[in-house]
Amino acid sequence: MAETQSSNYDVLRNEKYGRYLVANKDLDSGELIFTDMPFAVGPKPGNPPLCLGCYAPIDNSLCSRCGWPICSPECETAASHLNECEVFSAANVRFQSVEDWTASSPQLDCITPLRVLLAKEKDPEKWQQGLELMETHTEARQQKPSWAVDQVNIADFLVDHCKLGNKFDKELVQRVCGILEINSVEIPSRGGFSIRAVYPRLAIAAHSCVPNIVHTILYNDYQVQVRAAVPIKSGETLHLCYTHALSPTPIRREYLLESKFFNCECARCADPTELGTHLSTLKCNKCDNGVILSTNPLDNDAPWKCTEKNCEFKTSGAAVRKMLAVVQAEADQLDVLEPNAQAIEQREAFINKYKSVFHPRHSLLLSIKQALGQLYGRVEGYNIDELPDLMLERKAEFCRLVLKTLDVIMPGESRMRGMVLYELHAPIMFMARNEFSAGVITQEKLKDRLQEPIKCLADAARILMREDPQSPEGITGQIAYQSMEQLKASLDSL
Ligand SMILES: [Zn+2]
Ligand SMILES: [Zn+2]
Ligand SMILES: [Zn+2]
Ligand SMILES: [Zn+2]
Repeated sequence: MAETQSSNYDVLRNEKYGRYLVANKDLDSGELIFTDMPFAVGPKPGNPPLCLGCYAPIDNSLCSRCGWPICSPECETAASHLNECEVFSAANVRFQSVEDWTASSPQLDCITPLRVLLAKEKDPEKWQQGLELMETHTEARQQKPSWAVDQVNIADFLVDHCKLGNKFDKELVQRVCGILEINSVEIPSRGGFSIRAVYPRLAIAAHSCVPNIVHTILYNDYQVQVRAAVPIKSGETLHLCYTHALSPTPIRREYLLESKFFNCECARCADPTELGTHLSTLKCNKCDNGVILSTNPLDNDAPWKCTEKNCEFKTSGAAVRKMLAVVQAEADQLDVLEPNAQAIEQREAFINKYKSVFHPRHSLLLSIKQALGQLYGRVEGYNIDELPDLMLERKAEFCRLVLKTLDVIMPGESRMRGMVLYELHAPIMFMARNEFSAGVITQEKLKDRLQEPIKCLADAARILMREDPQSPEGITGQIAYQSMEQLKASLDSL
């Protein structure tokens, strides 16, 4: 029997998921299922000091009343900051100055829990119907070193230093820390930093490594909009992906266990080939054609073996995870490069270095290829109108490779698909035009060939225009729409 009903979904409960959402009617892909407002929004662990009003980076700028990071007089009186400003001012607890304003600051770890507590005080009913019911995994959290850190930096700090003991006890503060750790989601902010928020309804959606719903955050008030990514039948469970969908199985499962306290056993996790996408697959260097797969992906300690009959190669799950961590750290270095010619060349060198270690569609190589699919045509020395056909083809190949993987692990209308489709339209369009200019194809054939980029742009615009108009994706959606209109007009005038 459903606990709560809405026009599109029911809330059910079982052993495996606790509370979860089920569609109660057929939903089209892209259809809005529900919207939700955050119970609280604020910094996430690891954030450097940021403005507590708008979440912009900040350098030695403090609130004139409470002495905590605030960028401007407007942000001093932002609704999000007012209540904590009073707490800090009354207790005379100030932010301790830091040397490096770009390094992560544990001092801000207390902010979001404090905001949850203050919101609870203000709206006890909303707390009771939403957050009170959320999973906290207190026993498991107590076993981790972060429990003691939270106890000092958050529970002791708020109850003793900020003198909130008459309102909240330390046990409640730890519960709030657990609620946030397990149920909050990372969201973008208008100030630039990604932060976290807890949404009472969104948090009920169950996890799958092949999600069927997607969510969009609006910058203005951090409302979340939840949509169907694919057509969903009445009675189907709504699944969100709590982790980075392109990660390989060992990394996803480790993250889900460490931070969400469950062992994912979805169909993708259970399949050594990740449903044929090969996001975790390694290449064997002891034989010619073998690939190395986990003998049981649901057991972290299961050995990995070569698939070739006569090849004996075998390694441990721990060795694979260690190797992934080392290569991932090297790949992360590429992410901080400025987008220029070097950023392309170093990524190509990375692919070259590791092509004999990883399957061409392994997560690590695919992420690099996804970045290259974006960089080709966009940086000095590799501008789209001067790219040789070979590189146009490479850009298109990388985009198609990502789309092929998304078809399986994130089917339907996602931000990532929209962004890749936008990138894909350009090389196809330029290759067709180049062939026409060179006299290789007729005008009729050119018109025909330009239908594909028009379709890419139309799909990208439809998907991305659901995003906040100020977000990078929302901006790309508007550009995609305009480019589509221009391309159609240029076709009509041929
Ligand atoms: Zn600000
Ligand atoms: Zn203040
Ligand atoms: Zn899974
Ligand atoms: Zn082998």
